[in-house]
Amino acid sequence: MYDFLKPLEGLFEEKIPLLKTARTLQVLVIRQTHDYTIFRTEETRELNVVTLPRSANNPEAVLKVVMLASKQKAPENRMYARLFKTYATALGVTLEPSVLNCRLKDNLCRMCPRCVLFGAVTTEARQEERWNIKHRIEYSSAYSIEPYEEISELITFNAVDTATQSTGQALGVTENIRPIAHFPSVITLKSVTPEEFIFYLKTLMATKSYGAETRIKGDVVNTIVGVAGGFEEIITSLEYSLELAGKDWSSDPVTATEQILKKYGSFASMPDQVKILSKKELEELVKAVREFKITKEFIERLKKQAADFAEQAKKAASPERKKGR
Ligand SMILES: [Zn+2]
Repeated sequence: MYDFLKPLEGLFEEKIPLLKTARTLQVLVIRQTHDYTIFRTEETRELNVVTLPRSANNPEAVLKVVMLASKQKAPENRMYARLFKTYATALGVTLEPSVLNCRLKDNLCRMCPRCVLFGAVTTEARQEERWNIKHRIEYSSAYSIEPYEEISELITFNAVDTATQSTGQALGVTENIRPIAHFPSVITLKSVTPEEFIFYLKTLMATKSYGAETRIKGDVVNTIVGVAGGFEEIITSLEYSLELAGKDWSSDPVTATEQILKKYGSFASMPDQVKILSKKELEELVKAVREFKITKEFIERLKKQAADFAEQAKKAASPERKKGR
């Protein structure tokens, strides 16, 4: 066991279970934009906005910007796989060709650490090979703390003539989020091993590009400000955003988050199972994860946990097994 995970004891799995257990961990993160960023669905070319109360204690209706769950999951999913493969290669851990070639979204191997955590849907044509892995990491839409008018900006763009490199007249406008806008988000992990938790936190710290368009980086910095766990989910992203919006949170977001978690922890149906990290515990955890050195043994453990799970899932789906029942 890792000493820095002691405050969350009882909420991890030793190996990935075939069926999810109730063990739930929630990571509370504040995503801060560091560049003009576009969060929107490709079709509409507009920002996603929604009418919400200004905060948990102010019912006045205001527009808030939405960072969709899919826009958070995709870059973290890719980063998790990229970090695993890069470490494995650098540390001399042998990976099967299917793991090395595993990629979104039509060539998932269903046996690597990414596939078993983020989920994988098969594209196999053969009936007996058609089994999927359900994700154990859950994202939900994040809502800006600031109202839409305060953080949106229209930027005009010009067309560059490729022959002359001269810019023509303005082609149109895009709607951007300006830097230093805040999107509080809750990521829920179910039935994870300590290694998966550590590797996900490292991924969260390392992922910095969340733009909707590939030519726009969309710099975002993630700050982990809270961790809670139990046999159920404690808080949603919407609750968290509205609660923060009603507080003077910016000078000490960790304390503000701890207070919010304590309030929601008291609403839980099994409060005796709820664990909420104190400010001190949270800061120690974040520091320990940051300083945690990824070793060959660690990567091999992640790989084995995933492979063992895949083996079980495959067996459970096999026709022989079904006949035998
Ligand atoms: Zn895979």
